[in-house]
Amino acid sequence: MRTQQYIELEERYGAHNYHPLDIVITRGEGVWLTDIEGRRYLDCLASYSAVNQGHCHPKILQAFTEQARKLTLTSRAFRNDQLPLLYKDLHDLTGYDMTLPMNSGGEAVETAIKAVRKWGYTIKGIPENKAEIICAEGNFHGRTTTIISFSTDEQYRFGFGPYTPGFPIVRYGDIEDLRSKINRNTAAFLVEPIQGEAGIIVPPEGYLHEAARLCKENNVLFVADEIQSGLGRSGKLFAFEYEHIRPDVVIIGKALGGGFYPISAVLSDRDVLGVFQPGDHGSTFGGNPLAAATARAALRVIVEENLVQRSSELGSYFMEKLRTIRSSHLKQVRGRGLWIGLVLDEPARPYCEALKNRGMLCKETHECVIRIAPPLVITKDEIDWAFEQIKSVLTSITTNTGNVAAEKELVWQN
Ligand SMILES: *Cc1c(COP(=O)(O)O)cnc(C)c1O
Repeated sequence: MRTQQYIELEERYGAHNYHPLDIVITRGEGVWLTDIEGRRYLDCLASYSAVNQGHCHPKILQAFTEQARKLTLTSRAFRNDQLPLLYKDLHDLTGYDMTLPMNSGGEAVETAIKAVRKWGYTIKGIPENKAEIICAEGNFHGRTTTIISFSTDEQYRFGFGPYTPGFPIVRYGDIEDLRSKINRNTAAFLVEPIQGEAGIIVPPEGYLHEAARLCKENNVLFVADEIQSGLGRSGKLFAFEYEHIRPDVVIIGKALGGGFYPISAVLSDRDVLGVFQPGDHGSTFGGNPLAAATARAALRVIVEENLVQRSSELGSYFMEKLRTIRSSHLKQVRGRGLWIGLVLDEPARPYCEALKNRGMLCKETHECVIRIAPPLVITKDEIDWAFEQIKSVLTSITTNTGNVAAEKELVWQN
């Protein structure tokens, strides 16, 4: 089958809730993807940071296949011999007392919401059904009906009401706004330490630190959504480390599964996750042995291959190079670690199409930002190559139509 036939099948029989680039990928290895026509591409999206370890990492593959041959699912009705080891690894790595495993990021966010609400009622003493969780403008925490209830993006919400109440919104980065919205019924502040989907927005220095202090002062839980920013992407294990804070609750997902298997988790100390009693919450697949064994290997690779440090060093190197590009449409280069947003003054999609034609895959976010987030195993040479492609595209595209079309004619040359 050819590319066009796959696309036709997908368009015909699949729901159109995505608008993917028109390539059909069939193989992945490290930072490289191959499409069914045999063309190779440098992956600069890393599945929204779910493959920080690189595609089909051999060590994760080994753990995954070994476990898949032995035992994959018991449900939590019985214990298995993998989940306790993952708990211990996460505790040793992060210092938090406890873990509650789920599958998708959205489910872990829902779990954190339930945990902090129950904490609010049973520990803090908030009157029944009055608990508030403050969220930030521009947030992205997933796609469930409750989560989109506090999205500020009209497209994420429109048509999906009625919405779940109890989520006041504050401006991201505005500490006074947060201060003014905290009241006796505030159970938690839920925030991305760096907003990913909003366009890789790093908050003003000191914001998270001050927010954490405010929370502590008011007996409000600080919940960090590190699903995208965590596990090395930002150049630290967790992005909150830039502000020397320790959130009460940390939500992880994406790279926790090493690109092989969906697994997410909520981490906290006993005072918060301890509110759950048997039967309060659960998931058939959550914490299954295949997920646990895969996640353990995924974490081991992050540690053993120094991916956090790589992200930090190579990210700085990449960002400095990108800042040398002179283009009338490039307004800002921002980010942390190997997580870089190129902010344009016009839609980024044509640039992503042009980069695709040069053998580099990235995805625009929020219309005008090109997000660069390759697997953290990328090498310096590969970064140099990616830089040349970006520079060519940014300096040759001058209008939305003319030169983009010219770029599309470029013979693929990798
Ligand atoms: C991707 C993401 C989620 C949702 O994760 P899913 O696995 O897609 O449900 C939540 N929060 C943040 C910050 C994310 O980037």
